[in-house]
Amino acid sequence: MYEARLRETLPRVREAMAEAATRAGRSPDGVRLVAVTKAHPLEAVRAALGAGLIDLGENRVEELEWKRAEVDDPRARWHMVGHVQSRKAPRAAQLADLIHSVDTVKLARRLDAAAEALGRDLAVLVQVNTSGEEAKSGLSAEEAVEAVHEVLALPRLEVRGLMTMAPLGAGEAVLRSTFGGLRETLERLRALDGRVGHELSMGMTEDFGIAIEEGSTMVRVGTALFGRRPQ
Ligand SMILES: *Cc1c(COP(=O)(O)O)cnc(C)c1O
Repeated sequence: MYEARLRETLPRVREAMAEAATRAGRSPDGVRLVAVTKAHPLEAVRAALGAGLIDLGENRVEELEWKRAEVDDPRARWHMVGHVQSRKAPRAAQLADLIHSVDTVKLARRLDAAAEALGRDLAVLVQVNTSGEEAKSGLSAEEAVEAVHEVLALPRLEVRGLMTMAPLGAGEAVLRSTFGGLRETLERLRALDGRVGHELSMGMTEDFGIAIEEGSTMVRVGTALFGRRPQ
C-alpha cells in the first residue's frame, strides 16, 4: 500500500518543492526532503527507502529505536524531529544522525555527555520559536543567540543550523514571518560564529512551499507523502 501511495505522492511533493525553489530563484538541489514516518508502520519506512528517500524523520525516541533496529539499512539517515526529554538523551544520541529539536541548553549538555560516552560527534539543530506562540517549544530568537554560543562550546556537538515549527493553520503572513525570522536569526548567528552550519529545517505538509521560498534547506514532510497518520 505505501509503495503504491509513494509512487503517486512523491513526484507531486518533489515537483511542488522544485517549483517553490524556482519561484525563489533557488536551486531545487538545495532542499532536502526528510520523510516523516512517525506513527506509520515499518512498511512505510521500507517503501520510503525503496523510493530513494533515505532521510527519515521520527518524533519519539522509542519509535526511532525499534524502527531503526528493524530496518537496519546503512543508507538510512535518521532524523529526530520531536522533543527529546533529557533522560532520553543517551538513546537519542546513539540513534539519531541529526537531532532537529535541541530546545534547551540543558538538553544540549546531556546530548554532549552522551555523545562523549559513545565516542562520537553528534549533529544537531537548535529549535527556535520564531512564531512567538507560547505553547511551542524552542528558544526565542533572543535566547537562541546565547544558547547557540553555549552549545558551540560543547565539544561533541556540531551545530548544523536551526529548526522551527509554524503554528498550526497559520496564514501566509505568519508563515513568512516565522520562516523568514528563522533565516534572519541564522544569518545573525553565522555572522557571530562561523562554526554554525547553514541548515534551516522548516516546512511541513501544509507549509513547505512557503518555507522553501523563505530559505528552507530541509523540509519535514509526513502526511503529503504517506497520508494521514493511523491513530
Ligand atoms: C509530524 C511532524 C512533521 C510532519 O508533519 P506533516 O504535517 O505530516 O507533514 C514535521 N515536523 C515535526 C516536528 C513533526 O512532529
